[in-house]
Amino acid sequence: YWKKSFSQLMKLFEVAVKCRPLTARERGRDIVRVHNDKEVLVLDPDLSKDYLDRIQNRTKERKYTFDYAFGPNSSNLDVYKRSVRSTIAGVVQGLNATIFAYGSTGSGKTYTMVGTRDDPGLMVLSLNTIFDLIEKDHSSDNFQVTCSYLEVYNEVIYDLLEKSSGHLELREDPEQGITVAGLRSIKVNSADRILELLNLGNSRRKTESTEVNETSSRSHAVLEISVTRKQQKEYPNQVIRGKLALVDLAGSKLTRILKDGLSGNSQTIMIATISPADNQYHHTVNTLKYADRAK
Ligand code: ADP
Ligand code: MG
Repeated sequence: YWKKSFSQLMKLFEVAVKCRPLTARERGRDIVRVHNDKEVLVLDPDLSKDYLDRIQNRTKERKYTFDYAFGPNSSNLDVYKRSVRSTIAGVVQGLNATIFAYGSTGSGKTYTMVGTRDDPGLMVLSLNTIFDLIEKDHSSDNFQVTCSYLEVYNEVIYDLLEKSSGHLELREDPEQGITVAGLRSIKVNSADRILELLNLGNSRRKTESTEVNETSSRSHAVLEISVTRKQQKEYPNQVIRGKLALVDLAGSKLTRILKDGLSGNSQTIMIATISPADNQYHHTVNTLKYADRAK
């Protein structure tokens, strides 16, 4: 149930592509526009011979293959089940993981990571799994789950779980490595309240907006969930800690840092988000190229 194929388990960096549906406004625009009979994206999970033959003859088409690809009809839960869930099980066992969304403004990063009440995003679904696994754990171990949520805006760090957060600073700690001084870490006992907490946090983001605008390409949000496990029986006093970082990235830059800095011993999954709209064609191509190179 939780198992992935051996080759996937060995892979520390995976790439999933998620194409969102057209928004109502884009559909409206499409009706008004004259030159819009072009399908800019074909998702072919089967990579059929037929399809490959077809694109050989069309020079302008480019083919990319990724670990996972999700079309406009896929829900966040679909994305989660196929590409993320098995990694979360590892976090409860003490492994580190990073899931980050990458894509242009308006391509669906926040929708994928945070989601809505009807279609909860990867942050909420991951926490659900963590609490599920803890509940089903038959050992007598003690678990503690904490989370922090920060925003990096114009290179300044803010605490999204704090009503009016000042600027926070990075600090080099000899034991814990690089930490954010003064960042609030909240103990969570169930996933129920988390969406509320995330929405509250998101409303504090400097660029809380679904509009495609320039400023929102400068706000990054990082939710860090830490699972601490204290063994009771065989190795009392032993503490196992797994960390999961869920990142809603702004446009591009920073991703280099992410790839270099967060690899190492942790499993990283990049969700490249793209829009099917023809006016986003260039962004889509750029995202696919970047995701292809990141593999
Ligand atoms: P980003 O965070 O990348 O700037 P958003 O997540 O804010 O983009 O998405 C842009 C718009 O597209 C929003 O109106 C959002 O509700 C919508 N959207 C994104 N993904 C989906 C989806 N899978 N299903 C329905 N609407 C979506
Ligand atoms: Mg966003």
